[in-house]
Amino acid sequence: MWSNGGNGGGHLKTVSMTTHRQTTAAKNAAPPKKRFNGIALLGLGFMVPLLAIAFRFVMQMNGLADTASFALIAAVVVSAGCLIGGIVMTPRDHFFNRVTYPALRQDWEHTWACNRCGGRFQF
Ligand SMILES: [Zn+2]
Repeated sequence: MWSNGGNGGGHLKTVSMTTHRQTTAAKNAAPPKKRFNGIALLGLGFMVPLLAIAFRFVMQMNGLADTASFALIAAVVVSAGCLIGGIVMTPRDHFFNRVTYPALRQDWEHTWACNRCGGRFQF
């Protein structure tokens, strides 16, 4: 793969540094993302009780009724938090995606990132 000379380690080091630099540049060059935090929270709010019911079933099969009821209480609390968070976040996400995101996307499409110095320039 690498040259057979005594310089192999040096080549390896150079390659890994280049890879790191490209990864950083790729991260800087990534387009802005739309937000779906509210939807994710609502999904979690519905998933958690299902998981808790499955967990409760397993615990009861093993005669651990106390652990089972604790799991349900914890699930109700976590689920309520997720649903409330989801209800609050979903309209905010919608606003961000509809109003803020297009402006960020427009900026990103007109930004050139310099590979040499990492500078970002609008055109
Ligand atoms: Zn530059």
